[in-house]
Order: sequence, then C-alpha cells, then structure tokens
Amino acid sequence: MKIYKSGADGAAAPNIEAELEAINAFAKTELTAEQVYTFSVVLCDNEVDRDYEKFSEEALGTLSELFVGRTGIFDHDWKATNQTARIYRTEIIREKGVLNSLGEPYAMLKGWAYMLRNEKNAELIEEIEAGIKKETSVGCSVARRVCSICGEEAHPNGCGHIPGREYSGKICYLELFDVKDAYEWSFVAVPAQRAAGVVKRFGASDSLKDFVQTKQGGRFFAEYEALEKDAALGREYKNALRNEVLRLGLLCDPKIYEALSENAKFMGASELENLKEAFEKRLEDSFPPRTQLPGRDKTVSFDGDEYMV
Ligand SMILES: [Zn+2]
Repeated sequence: MKIYKSGADGAAAPNIEAELEAINAFAKTELTAEQVYTFSVVLCDNEVDRDYEKFSEEALGTLSELFVGRTGIFDHDWKATNQTARIYRTEIIREKGVLNSLGEPYAMLKGWAYMLRNEKNAELIEEIEAGIKKETSVGCSVARRVCSICGEEAHPNGCGHIPGREYSGKICYLELFDVKDAYEWSFVAVPAQRAAGVVKRFGASDSLKDFVQTKQGGRFFAEYEALEKDAALGREYKNALRNEVLRLGLLCDPKIYEALSENAKFMGASELENLKEAFEKRLEDSFPPRTQLPGRDKTVSFDGDEYMV
C-alpha cells in the first residue's frame, strides 16, 4: 500500500566541503561548493502518527537506504520542473532521553538534500532559508501492518482492534514493516498533519483534557467537548437510575436497601436497569395497581385496606 507521511525541514547542512563527495556521487558533472545548496529534512520518525500508524525500527532502516538518491518534489506535484532537490545521504538520529509517545527511544530519519544554486531554485532556497517550506512528506510502499494489541497482521477481516482506541490502557496502532519502495519525498506548503520530525509531546500530556489543549491536540478539542457533554449526561442518568433502584429497594425491603446502598455505587448501568426491573416486578406483584377514580359507568368499592400507609 502507498503511504504518505509528514515530516519537517531542518536547517542548511553545515560544512558543504565535507558533503561534496557524497553529492558528487549523484551529480552528472562534478559540482563545487559554490554550485550547490544543501539542507536537511526530517523524512519520518517512529512516532505514532495521526493515522495511528508507526514505522518500525526495521522500516526506518530500510527507508534510510531507499531514500538515498531520491528526488524531492513540492506539494506532491510530480512535474519535472519540481524535481529540484535530491537526497544524497540519510541518517537515523536518536537523542538521548528523548522518547516517543509510547515511551520508546525516539528515532527520526533525517535526509540531507542538495539542489543547484541557480535562478530557477533561488526562490525556493530563499524560502527554505527563511523557514517557510516547513513540512515534508514521504511516499512509500509498505507490505505489512501489524496490530500493536494482538500482533496480528492488518487485513480487511482483521483482528477487530481499532487503531486509535485504547485496550486496557494501551493505544492500538499499526506498526509498519517491510518497506518495498520509497518513491518520493516532498515539501508541503501547508502543514497537513501532526508533524513527524518535530519531536512530539503527545505523551507528555497528563490527561486527554491536557492533550486537546495543546497545539497538536487542538483539532480534537470540539470532539472532546462533545464527548465530555455526553459523558456528563451519562453520569446524570446513572445517578438518577441508582437513586431510583435504592428507592425501589427500600420499598421492597429495608434490608435490601441496606445491602445495596454501598454496592450500587459500583454497579454499571445495565446492572442497575436489571435491578430496577426486578424491583418493579416485585412491587407490582405485591401491590397490584388500583385505580382510585372510577371510570365512566363504573363504581369502585373501597375496603380501605388497599390504602393503608
Ligand atoms: Zn489486534
């Protein structure tokens, strides 16, 4: 499957002289330091991304080989005129103590690219220097995606775990393996996603509420608020249901009330609903409903016992 991931750009690579040998391995004619402009791009990393997918260590390693020599395009617009930068070397960068959102050592695949300093590229070089062309994106083909919860390979009738959901406190994501090809990398003018390459602080938020108030989590804020409202309604319903169950329990037998009052706090809605139904049934059997007002053309005789309090 084709996969597009986002990254971010880095700064101009220092020490061009030292890089020239690697660059000239790809150049048709020997280039001098004056003729080339070099810069670095963060191609991808081992962070769980907005699609709840994550490159495995193995995949990052393969990508680091496959991206050497690849030409970069702009805005995923594949035109010959846009093929202006080429990656001449890559490196997997790790920083001591920096972790991804899963608590694993963070690793990013960095590429060093060069382009010719000519008129056609002048504007682009200026933009990179000024930091305008911020985001990068990679396109690659991956053969295997593996569920982080059960280890099963993702397929249409797969394991049933849903990426992005939590299972026993663990987030479900798909880990990517077996990269078959890396066919492009590009700059995208508008950041499209949680930027890979920027070291994400996703895991640093103490709660979901904190996270949706961060820059990365901001786009989930409205969804979070809606869920929170639903949850509040749910809690209200459950409280009302619990009180009703206790009231009915008390009517049935004060001993039931005593036994229940503590445990009802830990009961789920369906348990409470079942109890409510059972109590109602029991009360109905012991005290069948009687009408006080006679219907039309009917008389009701009272024997008094039914209304004893
Ligand atoms: Zn699974």
